Formats: sequence, C-alpha cells, structure tokens
Amino acid sequence: MTHESGYIFLVDADNRIVATGYNGAARGETECLEVGTCWRKENNVPHGQQYEKCVAVHAEANAIINCDPKYFNGTSTIYIYGCDKDNNICDSSPCLMCDRMIKNAKLNRCYYENTNTVGVKRIVKKYK
Ligand SMILES: [Zn+2]
Ligand SMILES: [Zn+2]
Repeated sequence: MTHESGYIFLVDADNRIVATGYNGAARGETECLEVGTCWRKENNVPHGQQYEKCVAVHAEANAIINCDPKYFNGTSTIYIYGCDKDNNICDSSPCLMCDRMIKNAKLNRCYYENTNTVGVKRIVKKYK
C-alpha cells in the first residue's frame, strides 16, 4: 500500500476488532514523514515495489505482529484503508510481502480499496 498513511483493522469471526495497525517507521528509526523525505517517493517508485528502501513497517505487518495468534485460525478478516496527505483514498491492496504474511497468519479474507479502476472499488480477496 502507499506510504502516506495506512490503517488496518483485524476482526475475528464475530466482527470484533482484535488488532489494529498503521504504517510507521520500524522501532528506533525516524519516520519518513518526520524526516520530510522518502527515498521511494523521491525516486517515483510505483506502488508495490522496492519497499525495502523505506523504513516503514506496513500497516498489515504491524497489525499481524500486534495480534494474539489465537485469532490466526482461518476465520479472521483484515480490512485495509489508505489515504494520501490530502485525504484521498489510495490503492490499499497489500504488497506481495504483506500478502504472504496474511496467508501465513491464516486470515480468511482481506478487504482493500482499488483505485486503478474507475472510481474506488472495494475488493474482497478470499484466502481459502
Ligand atoms: Zn518512506
Ligand atoms: Zn506491504
């Protein structure tokens, strides 16, 4: 998902929120927003590429790290939202690394917003 801001809600089978996460710098590193520059942005790196060049830990990853593993039972759902600095909805499809984390956390479904089509489209991806 894009760098600016990303928010995640992880819910269990009864739609109770069991974890949240947001895009942020790894522990001990300074946020790109605070530094005022991001290597990916400066180099116009497209969505989904070269995330290793940025200090951010993706919202999906943060939510999964902060979730009690007992919810990784095949019935939980992850909702991903993203917006830019002007509050426009961004493409929030999970990157390939996060997609794999979601699979291994045995989440059932993933909801995200796709802005590549005309307008904003809510997508649901089923993992089983
Ligand atoms: Zn960055
Ligand atoms: Zn990611």
